[in-house]
Amino acid sequence: MQKINKLEIEIIRFAKKLNSTNLSPLRSGNISTRAEKNNVGGFLITPSGIKYETLKPNEIVFVSLDGNYDEKGLAPSSEWRFHQDIYLNKKRAKAIVHAHSPYATAVSALGKPIPAFHYMVAIAGGDNIRCSKYATFGTRDLSKNITKALENRKACLMSNHGQVAFGENLDEAFELAEELENICHQYIITLRVGKPKILSSQEMKNVLNKIKNYKKG
Ligand code: 13P
Ligand code: ZN
Repeated sequence: MQKINKLEIEIIRFAKKLNSTNLSPLRSGNISTRAEKNNVGGFLITPSGIKYETLKPNEIVFVSLDGNYDEKGLAPSSEWRFHQDIYLNKKRAKAIVHAHSPYATAVSALGKPIPAFHYMVAIAGGDNIRCSKYATFGTRDLSKNITKALENRKACLMSNHGQVAFGENLDEAFELAEELENICHQYIITLRVGKPKILSSQEMKNVLNKIKNYKKG
């Protein structure tokens, strides 16, 4: 496990990138990474409602896997509950990116999964990308809905809200969130020009097998 200070700096770098790439404008979205503090397992997460451009390492909040944090410091992101549940449920999740990215948010308002209109839908881990049911931001109900939508998946839409993606590290989680945003942009254009032809589940199985062995250059 990397040193806490290095992880805090890494979180700030990606939090700023949320704004600079327009993946999540202004104070929206949040970022976390698994961490260990004083031999307690948990995660480091962006504080709630703070502008990313002014973030300092000591403002990043540590939350233990059982949901405890220092009440005297800054409050963790209001969405710490779904970050906690993802870390508890997914061994391979080492970092999480939540974004109100424009196209994913627009598609999330349909409240429906994205079907296999493009083979890249498989990057989230299956033959569609689910959309979790709506619940108020920051609630355990929202977290439960996300947990369901992430079954056998690494990313999902969140109805009337945005998207969430996880990975083995922040680079991977961020890239997946960017890929999902791109897929949503393409999906919106597709819906404008007509009714998409959906790839068969057999073809998506082929793609999923190929993606497993696909090495990045
Ligand atoms: P926080 O600033 O509390 O992380 O809230 C942003 C957000 O996207 C809530 O869903
Ligand atoms: Zn949000």
